[in-house]
Amino acid sequence: MTETVAQASGGPPAATSAGPLRVGPFVPDPRRVRRFFATLLVLGLALIWAVFGYSWHVLRSGAEEALQARLDSEVVLLEDHASRTLDAVKARLGSLAALTSPATLRSGQLGAARLAELIAGDPLLRSVSLVDDQDRVVASSNPAHLGLKLPAQVLPPHTRQPEAPELMLGGAHPYRDLSGLAAGRAAEDVQLWLATLDVLMEGRVYHWLAAVNPEFYANFWSRVNEEPSIEVALHSYQGARIVRDRPEWPEPVGMGARLVQALQAGDRGRFDFGQGDRLTVVYRASSVHPAVLTVSADRASLWATQRPQQLRMGALALGASLLLLVAISLQVRAYLRFEGAQTELRNQMRALGAHVMVSESTPDGDIVAVNPAYLLHTGYTEAELLGRNHRVFSSGHHPPEFYTRLWATVKGGTIWKGIFRNRAKNGSLFWVSSTIVPFTDAWGRVTRMVALYTDIQDAMVLAEKLDFERRQRLDLAALNRTLLTEANTDALTGLANRRGFDRFASHALEPTRSFDQPTALLMLDLDHFKLVNDTHGHAAGDAVLRELARRWQRQVRASDLSARLGGEEFLVLLPNTTLAQAVEVAEKLRLVTSSLPVALGPELDGPALAVTVSVGVTGLDSVRAEEIHTLLQAADTALYEAKHGGRNRVAIWAAER
Ligand code: GH3
Ligand code: MG
Ligand code: MG
Repeated sequence: MTETVAQASGGPPAATSAGPLRVGPFVPDPRRVRRFFATLLVLGLALIWAVFGYSWHVLRSGAEEALQARLDSEVVLLEDHASRTLDAVKARLGSLAALTSPATLRSGQLGAARLAELIAGDPLLRSVSLVDDQDRVVASSNPAHLGLKLPAQVLPPHTRQPEAPELMLGGAHPYRDLSGLAAGRAAEDVQLWLATLDVLMEGRVYHWLAAVNPEFYANFWSRVNEEPSIEVALHSYQGARIVRDRPEWPEPVGMGARLVQALQAGDRGRFDFGQGDRLTVVYRASSVHPAVLTVSADRASLWATQRPQQLRMGALALGASLLLLVAISLQVRAYLRFEGAQTELRNQMRALGAHVMVSESTPDGDIVAVNPAYLLHTGYTEAELLGRNHRVFSSGHHPPEFYTRLWATVKGGTIWKGIFRNRAKNGSLFWVSSTIVPFTDAWGRVTRMVALYTDIQDAMVLAEKLDFERRQRLDLAALNRTLLTEANTDALTGLANRRGFDRFASHALEPTRSFDQPTALLMLDLDHFKLVNDTHGHAAGDAVLRELARRWQRQVRASDLSARLGGEEFLVLLPNTTLAQAVEVAEKLRLVTSSLPVALGPELDGPALAVTVSVGVTGLDSVRAEEIHTLLQAADTALYEAKHGGRNRVAIWAAER
């Protein structure tokens, strides 16, 4: 039995998991499941963050495009303002140029008072002056400027086309006016912006010089530019920045050179400039206009305005990631519980399969699967059983109605329990206790039969044996009673006599009655009985013999036979009794003899007599009727040993065939 368990549990895993009552298909490889969950998590996170990255990119490029459009429209708007203003300057200087001649210069028509009157109320111009080709002021709206010699490098370049003069713009300088410029007296926060228009007089080139008020531009810039990350500025064609609206921004180094380079590519366009991609610059110039407009945007601060949106997106992605994590971990938890339950079930099934035989069949009894314990018991191989009908095990022990009822029960969806006898491959029969369970599908239809069997062969054999022994005892007791006829009975004690003993023994030891069962024989002889007779008389001796026979008879079974062999010698035949059990009986008989002196009764009138007995015991595992003499001889020897050993004792002697 131990071997069965060891074999079943030590068998290949396939046999225990794919047998009947299998749970294998429901439990996938745990490594694959964990890999699946990990992959799901990684893919989910990757998807979320890819969407986040893409949205980030869309947001950024959308903002960038919006910025470009904004800058483009801004520069168009500004250009309109700027060109109109500069046109006004050009018109003013143009009309002065038309007036300019040696005569008007001398006549005072270009005198300071006249010129001052001309520009009075103009917010654009601080002063107008006429400069000769030696850069000396020869006429001015400000009389203090007359005769000043201006530093050549600060003046705008000449047009060299006096017949079609263009307004030329110079740089913006930190001077209040021309006198400050000539003397090199810089002012803190005032800008002097010079514009010239050439005029030809007596073969020499003069310039009308306008001191333009750059602060004027701040007024309309502030009207068009409300975006804090945008700066608008005005440049000369040489790249010099004339005026800007965000002086607090650090000056981008090399911006002028970069602008000049960009202007070679076209009058209008855009470029990225600066440290990293901090600035995007849109410029607009025109050959008919004397200045270049730029609108620059600080991307970093533009991007800073998008921060709340970025944060919202980031929070959304983070939230989605957490949600995914929670969802997956919930799934994992649920799966782990399921896996635990399945593993537990698999172990239970394994334990069940190791203990009991299990077979699975179609509703018609065709075998679909069997477990190793089943194969071990029946002696078949799996290949021999699969596809065959359960009838292969039929022992012939049960009538056909038995099977008809069984199958009717299980096909009706009811569990059948009972015992029956099966035939193993080698023809041997064995008893099983069985539970046949009809398995149903979701619709309640019986789809297969799963039968659990326990081997009850040993128990059945034991029950049969016990039953046989019970019947045998009754039989011998009946025999015992029928032998009690005068011819077979000892008159003094009422026990069987020698003849009765012989007849009982030959019956009890008949082959049909005694199949391999032990039989024991006791031989008893009273100790020093001669002395009892001699001292108390023969009648007292007889009384003792009667009393002891009565006491002994109460200690043995109805199926045992007590007989008086003659004199004070007795025999007790104990069928179905081992030698060890017989020794116990002998000891009891010895004790009931010696423990209580025998009272003689009223008619004899004497003291109670203390008597002891010696007992010889022998026995054989199985005895044939003709072997009774062997037993008698051995019992006699045993008795002799008991006497020799000091009497009042039990001695054993093994019978020899
Ligand atoms: P031991 O057996 O201990 O060696 O001593 P014992 O004195 O018992 O010796 P033994 O068995 O040889 O003697 C048998 C005696 O039993 C002889 C006889 O006096 C007595 N006896 C035999 N048959 C009867 C009987 O039927 N009635 C009575 N009262 N006594 C009997
Ligand atoms: Mg004796
Ligand atoms: Mg004797």
